[in-house]
Amino acid sequence: MTTAATGWEAVIGVEIHVQLATRTKMFCGCELRFGDPPNTHTCPVCLAHPGVLPVVNREAVRLAIITGLALGCEIAPRSQFHRKNYFYPDLSKAYQISQYDEPICIGGRVEVLTPEGSFEVGITRAHLEEDAAKLVHVGGGGRRAGAEASGVDFNRGGTPLLEIVTEPDLRTPAQAGAFLRQLRATLRRLGVSDCNMEEGSMRADANVSVRPAGSAGLGTKTELKNMNSFRFLERGMEAEIARQIGIIEAGGRVTQETLHYDPELNEIHSLRSKEEAHDYRYFPEPDLVPVVPDRAWVEELRAGLPALPAVTRRRWTDDLGLTFEDAEVLSEPAELAAYFEAVVATGADPKAAANWIRGELRAQLRELGQEPWESAVTPARMAELLALLGDRTLSVPLAKEVLAEVVRTGAPPARVVEEKGLGQISDEGELVALVERLLADNPAQAEQLRGGKDKVVGFFVGQAMKATGGRADPARVGELVREKVAAG
Ligand code: ADP
Ligand code: ZN
Ligand code: MG
Repeated sequence: MTTAATGWEAVIGVEIHVQLATRTKMFCGCELRFGDPPNTHTCPVCLAHPGVLPVVNREAVRLAIITGLALGCEIAPRSQFHRKNYFYPDLSKAYQISQYDEPICIGGRVEVLTPEGSFEVGITRAHLEEDAAKLVHVGGGGRRAGAEASGVDFNRGGTPLLEIVTEPDLRTPAQAGAFLRQLRATLRRLGVSDCNMEEGSMRADANVSVRPAGSAGLGTKTELKNMNSFRFLERGMEAEIARQIGIIEAGGRVTQETLHYDPELNEIHSLRSKEEAHDYRYFPEPDLVPVVPDRAWVEELRAGLPALPAVTRRRWTDDLGLTFEDAEVLSEPAELAAYFEAVVATGADPKAAANWIRGELRAQLRELGQEPWESAVTPARMAELLALLGDRTLSVPLAKEVLAEVVRTGAPPARVVEEKGLGQISDEGELVALVERLLADNPAQAEQLRGGKDKVVGFFVGQAMKATGGRADPARVGELVREKVAAG
């Protein structure tokens, strides 16, 4: 819909707010706790009593710097806090301390991996600021309209936020979604934020415009506000692109405004137009000195960056032969990535390891509420199981049975096989006798086979598995059936 097929192309830039995973607030020592009773984490600073002074949270600065480094940004030698002035009941000071024309991170670039290949997104900037408090509406179903009363919970007021702004480099909602998902994985790997969208610790606004496909200029943009799920954001962008194309094709003009997308109704509503936009009267925050991070510290942080998900994923798809989806699923969280790498490090086939960890292992553990890295199935046990599959000691169904026992007891797979007599029948004579008996016992099917109906091999394999409790090697049984029939 947004491709050359319609003659139009979309242009998208996103702005992402993430709550930084610090212990305390941006400018005071109040603890950050989601879900505590209202107004239990407040002090004169975050309540804006007169005469108090803010102090910058060093950990928030560190998290902003490592994010900037991971996104390929330059860390500004000097950045400045500004006051962004506006009135709202959730803003105790009637201004928000933010950064304006001297943000802490500037000019980055990110390579985004997708199943169809990769693309690049420019990062305009990332800046530090504080969050507003939270309005709580009583009655009226918790919404502002129709509420009997509204209160302010200042626990959230002063939470450190990092706002990341991209260049208008994204061309489809799917690209925007892929970028945001990779960004979330990156931020989680860095320990910068839990990026929990339901709790609002990651919020994304999408700026959208359309232009004739292939042209270079920029059309008038609208801004889709505060979507709290990537899926809804993508659907909202699709709806907004279609709306804009409809306006232009009908001879109209898109007006610059801020919009809300209602995922239930698949409808777009205007929140405010450009004319209603605030003039924030930014001015430098006189109570805070500029942030001038020590260069040696920045270099130390750069050297200490963990392996980022995109880098890990690329290595796994290029060197280990995993699919993009395998790599995406296994690279998050970091513990799972480490688990997979530990299994492969013992010599296991990477693709088999990926399939078994993603599939059967996680399925079996889910019922127990366990994660692979905290389960009895250590990477060494998992690798041993894969080796037993690889050398055909175990068939897939038997391996699942053995795995269940390892999950339960933590016993080495080879011992489980021995104690339970679960190994595949490797004695060729035993298998030959079995196949001969089955052919004799099922003359009608044997006749069909001789008549050239090769599909009937599956019937005999099934019978053999049944007769042995799954311990026959199905591939070998199939071969033997064909040999016997061919031999007459
Ligand atoms: P504003 O002044 O409205 O805040 P900015 O130039 O600061 O606009 O850009 C805000 C966001 O909007 C950025 O992510 C940017 O990439 C994106 N953006 C800017 N112009 C366009 C456009 N014409 N179409 C789509 N996105 C745009
Ligand atoms: Zn406080
Ligand atoms: Mg702007």
